[in-house]
Amino acid sequence: MPIRLSTYLQNTYGEKIYKLSLSSGCTCPNRDGTIGTGGCSFCSEGGSGEFAKEPESIDAAKELIRSKTDARRFIAYYQSFTNTYGDVDRLKELYMSTIKRDDIAILSLGTRPDCLGSEVMDMVKELSTIKPVWIELGLQTIHERTSKRIRRGYELEVFEDAYRRLKECGVTVIVHVIFGLPVETKEDMLDTIRYLAGLSPALDGIKIQNLQILKGTDMYKEYLEDVENGTGDFHIMSMEEYTDLVTEAIALLPKETVVHRMTGDGPRKLLVEPLWSLDKKRVLNILTAKTKGLFSE
Ligand code: SF4
Repeated sequence: MPIRLSTYLQNTYGEKIYKLSLSSGCTCPNRDGTIGTGGCSFCSEGGSGEFAKEPESIDAAKELIRSKTDARRFIAYYQSFTNTYGDVDRLKELYMSTIKRDDIAILSLGTRPDCLGSEVMDMVKELSTIKPVWIELGLQTIHERTSKRIRRGYELEVFEDAYRRLKECGVTVIVHVIFGLPVETKEDMLDTIRYLAGLSPALDGIKIQNLQILKGTDMYKEYLEDVENGTGDFHIMSMEEYTDLVTEAIALLPKETVVHRMTGDGPRKLLVEPLWSLDKKRVLNILTAKTKGLFSE
């Protein structure tokens, strides 16, 4: 039985820990020409951090949250683009100054498994001697044909190697999965979950979301072509279908895995499909009801 993030944080820290969305100023090798120029086909200009308001400083980010809550401690979450890609000395300075703050409980870095070379791993190792470091990897799917289609730019073996090295360092690994990628069947999606549920050592965390088709992305162009030509590569799940699928996925996860996310909330102004995902509260309420008894306390 997996555990919800909120329960995990409460059990571990004895209080609610809030997330600060921050910018490291990194780009992405799948956009700057190192691996590719177009990026993953679903990724918008914001580098998968479209929803993250990224204030100038940690204090500014804190103020946004503190105006609404009594937050005391935070997860410093560097989400957009590839946050281990770039000058390691600069990144080390930034992340050291972040993780050493008393108000930061956890440092979380969104990145790619092919951006975890030895210098980066040394940095991550050193950071994790100070406080927990979460490394978030955008795997999305285990299927190579889908990976090629969405231009992820690395193969599953690259993920496996990075996963092994990160776990050897004692780092917390969180994997992102997208349901509803073109041509994937329900079984394909559940196979991705079965694979992750079978990882050894056990997966620390997972973020599941439905594919968000955003204006301005190549995925949007593909989607329009699909609609026009009736090729049927895209299946936009209904809320009912999606929440059923997530419920099945949660039931497959082991007790060690913390569920960080069960639905996505794309930017309103860019989102084309699925529009029901804009009502995140409703989706989460339905998921809470459907997954009752599937999480440990
Ligand atoms: S790796 Fe992340 S930031 Fe880079 S193109 Fe893909 S989704 Fe966007």
